[in-house]
Amino acid sequence: MQRDSLFDMIGVGFGPSNLALAVRLAEEPGAASLAHCFIERQPEFGWHRGMLLDDCRMQISFLKDLVTLRDPKSRFTFINYLFERGRLPDFVNLKSFYPTRVEFHDYLNWVAQAFDDRVHYGETVTGVEAVTAPDSSGQVNSVRVFSRDEAGREWQRVTRALSIGIGGSAQVPEAFAALGPHNVIHTANYLTSIDRVVGAPQSGPRKRIAVIGAGQSAAEVFIDLTRRFPGVDASLVIRSGALKPADDSPFVNEIFSPAFTDVIFAQNKDMRRSLIDRFRDTNYAVVDRALIEQVYEMLYLQSVGGEPRHRLLANTAIETAVRHSNGQLELTLRDRLSGHACAERFDALLLATGYGRATHLGLLDGLAPYLGDALQQGNVGRDYQLATPAHFKPRIYLQGCCEDSHGLSDTLLSVLALRSDEITASLMQGADQARASGPQIEQKNNGVGGGRMASAL
Ligand SMILES: Cc1cc2nc3c(=O)[nH]c(=O)nc-3n(C[C@H](O)[C@H](O)[C@H](O)COP(=O)(O)OP(=O)(O)OC[C@H]3O[C@@H](n4cnc5c(N)ncnc54)[C@H](O)[C@@H]3O)c2cc1C
Repeated sequence: MQRDSLFDMIGVGFGPSNLALAVRLAEEPGAASLAHCFIERQPEFGWHRGMLLDDCRMQISFLKDLVTLRDPKSRFTFINYLFERGRLPDFVNLKSFYPTRVEFHDYLNWVAQAFDDRVHYGETVTGVEAVTAPDSSGQVNSVRVFSRDEAGREWQRVTRALSIGIGGSAQVPEAFAALGPHNVIHTANYLTSIDRVVGAPQSGPRKRIAVIGAGQSAAEVFIDLTRRFPGVDASLVIRSGALKPADDSPFVNEIFSPAFTDVIFAQNKDMRRSLIDRFRDTNYAVVDRALIEQVYEMLYLQSVGGEPRHRLLANTAIETAVRHSNGQLELTLRDRLSGHACAERFDALLLATGYGRATHLGLLDGLAPYLGDALQQGNVGRDYQLATPAHFKPRIYLQGCCEDSHGLSDTLLSVLALRSDEITASLMQGADQARASGPQIEQKNNGVGGGRMASAL
């Protein structure tokens, strides 16, 4: 009988969350024997490539990189990245804590390259199932992870622990999903789709594009459309009365400090929700003040020029959306103050409608019979470990989907350095316990190479 090789941990997704974990595991001498790998669906490392606009800046200090708050002496600091790239003195001259996203992406990629031998790129994890003990105890000691590579081949690997770091999934409200995908684009795919939508410069009539949403991504793509595409007339449609600035003042910013995770976690469910709601305007449906000023100035200057092409439609509710036979998209827009409604046609819609954080539920559905309602309830410990019944031994760590229990920083970069430390500590403790207990059916894997093609079974 062919035996599965056994990992101590498999990371699903290789974005900043699991990248920070890879760094932490590499820097912890005690974790050297921990067999682990990561599975990432993109063919190479990429951090929100669809929104890597040239001049957009980080919304977080570079000192909140993958490691500095945990260990400023790590070789994976942003400062060491600048040093190795030969740009440290020039960066200092910028007098800024906020690099461009393009530069931060290059930093993340620089770190990721150090872990190429641990990552299976181009594989999408499709499901997970429990591996029960061969005796009749019903105990589950490990889980089997299924993935599919770009050639359509199925893979499976067995592990004692999972770190789920799959980020958010583009959220498309039902009314827009019903239009079909053609020229209805979520901002997550902005850069990969916009040239096709706009077409060649000066070819045919001007394109009317509506950007829908009032957050940072909406404002970023709105400005980008107006700057890069002279053949586009852009309308930014927002329900609220104005673009609102993100509150990044210092006392408020303390909610993103790693220590605040303890404060949130210590509260009961209602108080956690209340605290998160109180500080929502740090992260959701808000825009950097400097960007708001750019939008305002752009609109002002075009009114001076007497040729208003781009618009901010505030207090505007979208009541219906239909596709016409010529491909144009018609929106019924109602002014929420006057009550007046009108229909307008657009050549494309850009949806800055945010990200859902529930994809892990589908991914872990195969474990549902073993987990009770812990998964649906988001019942996680302070160490991000899903609470599981006593007979279910594998540990499942959830990153980026614990905002309800761990606070607003959970979906951001702010706590990555410390969260990876907390997960590593928990992982090592768990691995010691697992090794000390009962016989295992699988043989231990020594590194990334393990896994077998399902077709070979
Ligand atoms: C445009 C944009 C700008 C942002 N800027 C900032 C910022 O300045 N500061 C900040 O703190 N936060 C920012 N954020 C928030 C963002 O969530 C974090 O920066 C960060 O990306 C979180 O990392 P992650 O690894 O949890 O998720 P992600 O970065 O989303 O990475 C998840 C990874 O999992 C992979 N994956 C998903 N499903 C599967 C699967 N089934 N199988 C295999 N792989 C899978 C994805 O391909 C992806 O690579 C920004 C978000 C966006 C969209």
